[in-house]
Amino acid sequence: MTGLKREGDPVRRLEALRGTTPPRPHDARAIAALAANPGCARRALMDGAGIDKDAAARHLGFPAPFGQSPFAITRGNMFEALVKADGCAELLRMLRELLDLPVEEVAYHDVENVGAHLRHTHTRSLLDHAARSTTAAEPVSAATFYDHPLLSLSIAGHTAYLEPDLVAFQLGGRFHVVEVKSFSVIDGQADPAAVAAAARQAAVYVLAMRTTLEELGHDPGLVSHDVVLVCPENFANRPVATLVDVRKQLAVLRRQLTRMTTLDRLLDALPDDLTFDLRPDDDGRPTRPVAELADALSRTTARYAPDCLSTCDMCFFCRDEARQEGASDLLGRQVRDELGGVASVAEALGLADGTRTPAEGQEEIARLLRNAERLRRECLT
Ligand code: SF4
Repeated sequence: MTGLKREGDPVRRLEALRGTTPPRPHDARAIAALAANPGCARRALMDGAGIDKDAAARHLGFPAPFGQSPFAITRGNMFEALVKADGCAELLRMLRELLDLPVEEVAYHDVENVGAHLRHTHTRSLLDHAARSTTAAEPVSAATFYDHPLLSLSIAGHTAYLEPDLVAFQLGGRFHVVEVKSFSVIDGQADPAAVAAAARQAAVYVLAMRTTLEELGHDPGLVSHDVVLVCPENFANRPVATLVDVRKQLAVLRRQLTRMTTLDRLLDALPDDLTFDLRPDDDGRPTRPVAELADALSRTTARYAPDCLSTCDMCFFCRDEARQEGASDLLGRQVRDELGGVASVAEALGLADGTRTPAEGQEEIARLLRNAERLRRECLT
């Protein structure tokens, strides 16, 4: 380890945690996942330092099971093209019903046409113009779709650039983020995990838009917390739109981002010379001994839960660690929360069968566990 001096500026301390490994820019999926496990210090530190968790997990021998199949990507692109065809004609039909759009004429701006380097500035000026229209004495009477906008959000001192699928703007009302997803809605029901992930991702865009409007001197409340989720219906490719309230996801996300910008307390608890540096060689290949990196990571507190398997690149490493520790985290967040301060399965079993004396504060959970064990025995005999 490098013996770095970590006093002072948290940004420099986070950079030292990352070491010589290039920073990994945050995308909306990564930011959305922050809200999935807000209690995990390991993740907060790794994301705050811009560490490439996927590269770290691969180097540790625990690559994450993420990444869509080429078939799923093609299907998703085809569905998005269908929704946006003819200046979003199909989308307009759905939005008229869903948002009570009173207008017949809709303007369509494809921000991508201005070129990659200008997209962010152009998006800001379009949003500025649209927000001014809502407060003008004589507002413009057309709704507008913004396709391929480029938004930004500050994550622990770094600027992350984000691309929502689409932003729909309704005059006299508010901006609505439109999220196009290719998972199916069958008989009015969709996979709850997929909907939850889409809601978290849309909440990132809502927050980025609100921040942009605020920076431009407008009311951030012009961006609705109701996002429009567009999915294929049943087994056909016909799109169906649903309003999803993302207030809860927004609250968690804000809390998590604030926590990331104030990581001082978590940094203070770390040894002075701790670093997650992968020490890449000239070709970018990590050269750090795996055991050394694993040891460095074990100095941070993880809160593994089965949900991590769909939201965090470190999931297999943390699951393996939790297994070795026999952590109650493996049983899922609900069980872990109900077990309160009981950290391991062995401890819970010991309290249940009375072979372990409850520590201070564990009396109540020990009583409940003993009752549960007594009922289990009664059922079995
Ligand atoms: S996989 Fe590990 S680092 Fe990631 S959120 Fe879960 S416990 Fe935290």
